[in-house]
Amino acid sequence: MTKATLGSAEIAQVWLRAGVTGLGDSRVENLRTLRAASITARLTLIRSPMLTQVDAVVRQADVSLNTDIGVIRQLSAAAARAQRVHGVVLMVELGDLREGIMPDDLEGVAYETLRLPNLSLDGIGTNLACHNGVSPDATNMGQLAMLADSIERRFGLVLPTISGGNSGNLDWVLSGADPGRVNDLRLGESLLLGREPLHRRPLDGLHTDAITLVAEVIESGPKPSQPWGTMAQSTFGTTVRPERKGSTQQAVLAIGEQDTDCHALVAPLGFEVTGASSDHLVLDCGSSLPPVGAEVRFQLGYSALVRAMTSPFVSQVTNLRQAALAVS
Ligand SMILES: *Cc1c(COP(=O)(O)O)cnc(C)c1O
Repeated sequence: MTKATLGSAEIAQVWLRAGVTGLGDSRVENLRTLRAASITARLTLIRSPMLTQVDAVVRQADVSLNTDIGVIRQLSAAAARAQRVHGVVLMVELGDLREGIMPDDLEGVAYETLRLPNLSLDGIGTNLACHNGVSPDATNMGQLAMLADSIERRFGLVLPTISGGNSGNLDWVLSGADPGRVNDLRLGESLLLGREPLHRRPLDGLHTDAITLVAEVIESGPKPSQPWGTMAQSTFGTTVRPERKGSTQQAVLAIGEQDTDCHALVAPLGFEVTGASSDHLVLDCGSSLPPVGAEVRFQLGYSALVRAMTSPFVSQVTNLRQAALAVS
């Protein structure tokens, strides 16, 4: 899933060389970027299409994940206009309460999808661990398999894709559990950051520092550790104030909430992010103060990564030689 990289074709190519069998993104604009880079792999739109984008969706995506019959009808009409067959995967609600058709309604939506021209019912899927942190396990994955079996029996067909979920499914699948009928996972965060997202544990064989954020120091020196004057709210609410008295070694960096999620950054050892506003990030530097002009490198959580990749003020540099070495 390329959404966290703004549909980076360079990173997608590395993944394809490493054995990934298809690509997906939540934004049709990112799929267009991948197609424009002559990527021929199967592209899936993983967010239910906007009605205003159905024509673009059938042009850019081979498949889309769907939850709304009205949208599916419009996809059928758009696919007919484009003289294409568009793949539909029906997403089922299994407890996390973000997107998904309620299990009792699945058969009816499948029935109508099968009757619509220029669509193929490619499978069913679910998405957990996003809105309420519901963990994928033998129970909900078994429920997905049972739903797949019952749709196949009812309509006398085979569903090629049973998509079990996102990076949150890795704990379950790597625990040695029988994946049953699940033959597809949609992985983004785990491949980029090298951690499974349920407990943020590093994944065997993956790098946790494949992506770093570099910011430049624009002010550096001792500052009193406590503010003075009458206190009200600050720009973005939260400021961590060091407990100690006296002064701190403080660096101000030219990056802020406009560029990334400053609270999802991991500062180098000995440094602590004490707060950030839209354009300034304040670091308590302990005993080693970086001078003005120095670069400080951060590791990123997912929300920090997504925002850094989409900020026009952060340049994205891909070191492909290193990436290719890491794959081989
Ligand atoms: C974002 C997303 C994914 C990928 O999730 P990761 O946690 O990055 O692996 C998969 N499926 C859907 C529907 C998504 O929205």
